[in-house]
Amino acid sequence: MNDLTKIIPVAKTLPNTLPNTLTDTLQRPLHDLRISVTDRCNLRCTYCMPREFFDTHHVFLPRAELLSFEEIVRLARSFVALGVQKIRLTGGEPLLRRNLAQLVGMLAKLNTPAGKPVEVTLTTNGVLLARQAQSLRDAGLSRISVSLDGLSDETFRRMSDSDVPVNTVLDGIAAAQRAGFTQVKVNMVVKRGVNDHEILAMADHFRNSGVVLRFIEYMDVGSTNGWRMDEVVTAQQILEQISARYPLRQAEPNYSGEVAERWRYEDGGGEIGVIASITRAFCQDCTRARLSTDGKLYTCLFATRGLDLRTPLREGADDGALTALIAERWQRRTDRYSQLRSAATEPLSEATPGAKKIEMSYIGG
Ligand code: SAM
Repeated sequence: MNDLTKIIPVAKTLPNTLPNTLTDTLQRPLHDLRISVTDRCNLRCTYCMPREFFDTHHVFLPRAELLSFEEIVRLARSFVALGVQKIRLTGGEPLLRRNLAQLVGMLAKLNTPAGKPVEVTLTTNGVLLARQAQSLRDAGLSRISVSLDGLSDETFRRMSDSDVPVNTVLDGIAAAQRAGFTQVKVNMVVKRGVNDHEILAMADHFRNSGVVLRFIEYMDVGSTNGWRMDEVVTAQQILEQISARYPLRQAEPNYSGEVAERWRYEDGGGEIGVIASITRAFCQDCTRARLSTDGKLYTCLFATRGLDLRTPLREGADDGALTALIAERWQRRTDRYSQLRSAATEPLSEATPGAKKIEMSYIGG
């Protein structure tokens, strides 16, 4: 089966069968929490933190504004009480946050109300991974996703606007595998005319390696990347290109609501994924909350406003009060930006027309 025009995406409905599960206005439960642990990054990817905006004049959050590890864990505990089962640490570049493994260890001790340990995962650009992979594993990190947008130094430089050699990231991936992370994922954002000529090279490189390579459609997050639809290479186009060389077969989602569509090489060379955030928006299945570096709760990557949790936390609110604040916000949640964008011709601004969308480095990718 290799006629991709006939492929209908696997249904992604999320049956909400758990009793007393907290749901929003569209019946979406709260399952995942992404925590941005720093708004700083050691790369300047043009689609995320373009140097013109994030240069030496850019004011990053001062230390006192950042949630401490203890504060992060206090809030995480409330999210877990409300249904969160998976926590992803992100940023900015999370490995720039000093002693991150210590935070992993603290979060990995949390249990869901059913007594299951919370899964703690990480998204990183991999630049500092080689020297931290083992301590992260030892601290209880379950899984790692590494972002890598090209295989040649030249393409990587064009995407990341840095002189970091690709080998540094590849070494990080290898170190993660040696440390015992069995299914490392590599995420490649594809931008037309910049790195799309390396789609096949990436597929070749990661076939039979145990790594799951996932292609992400370039998104209109934030307000600094100058996003244009004609720069998006669609998931369909990516799949067509790869399947012309290596026939693919669609695989079942690992769990209901999984954002990546999974595909397997028919010759047994492993698995790839596509995240079609633009062309096949998955808002109806979005179970993710996001906690910004300074403690604001966002319920959409494309949000313009967040709920400040740090102020009540620092003013002495107890766990019950914090949990109630989060629950109330989730229950009122209506956002479905990507689906509305698909229905419109122009990018939208979720709440207030003309309002500035939050940058991904701050809200956490
Ligand atoms: N620094 C870490 C990293 O590189 O993975 C974590 C933060 S980064 C914001 C998280 C992910 O968001 C990366 O895979 C990055 O490529 C992706 N990302 C950032 N801006 C994006 C955009 N405009 N469209 C699609 N993906 C984007």
